[in-house]
Amino acid sequence: MEKWPIGVFASIDAGLGVKLEVAHELGIPTIHLHAPHKRTRTPENAERFLAQLRELGITITVVFGGFEGESYADIPTVRRTVGLVPPETRAQRTQEMKEIADFAKLLGVDAVALHIGFVPEEPEDPLYQDVVRVAQEICDHCKQNGQRLHLETGQETPETLLRFIADVGRDNLFINFDPANMILYGTGEPIAALKKVGHLVRSVHCKDAVWAARPGQEWGREVPFGTGDVNAEAFLRTLYELGYDGALTIEREIPKEPERQKAEIGQAVRLIQELKKKIFG
Ligand code: MG
Repeated sequence: MEKWPIGVFASIDAGLGVKLEVAHELGIPTIHLHAPHKRTRTPENAERFLAQLRELGITITVVFGGFEGESYADIPTVRRTVGLVPPETRAQRTQEMKEIADFAKLLGVDAVALHIGFVPEEPEDPLYQDVVRVAQEICDHCKQNGQRLHLETGQETPETLLRFIADVGRDNLFINFDPANMILYGTGEPIAALKKVGHLVRSVHCKDAVWAARPGQEWGREVPFGTGDVNAEAFLRTLYELGYDGALTIEREIPKEPERQKAEIGQAVRLIQELKKKIFG
């Protein structure tokens, strides 16, 4: 496969991301797949789905876990509902994440990812130790499957993320870097953050956003890639300097406006193609 194949965040049922047909129509060769619903994660469906992907010429690079009951409505809601941090749902979601990893294995995918949730900034917080333990458990499960686990960035500062990964202490734990999330959550200037954690980045989202008036207290606003505060060219140049060689996966979450979503993803594809030419010379 060529260096930096373009990708898009996609789904096959009601998950986040565009439909496969959209990826195909835009000529996009790779996807991050939002894990399908539990009832569709069967070996038969994996077979059928793989046949469809082969026909469309699309490769999955990462499978993303997501859980029922998660809401990204605002920052306090994310804190309360997302990932493996909320204690009430942790055991069940940990189990489900392992099942998602097993389904990814059926699809021949060697990386799974998730928003682990708001990791406490203070390592003395008992919640911090609990989240370290479940991350170890999932990493060990993935390891048996020959897989890596990628943590989506945004909900914590780069410093907390690095400390957390060191404390988990597993050699298959890496980062999915989403520069827009750093802005949306107000957790750090994205290019500076990428330079700090870059040695652990194994997948990325090409997503953009503009800063909120009060970062960290209210959401920034997601905008099409290349039109926000990320600085798309600096983002790709930094990846180049880091020696990153994975896919460039466009994420644009406006599922209620599929026409606009497709058009904006198409624009992002053209922008990335131009920037790749410029960077590779
Ligand atoms: Mg993302």
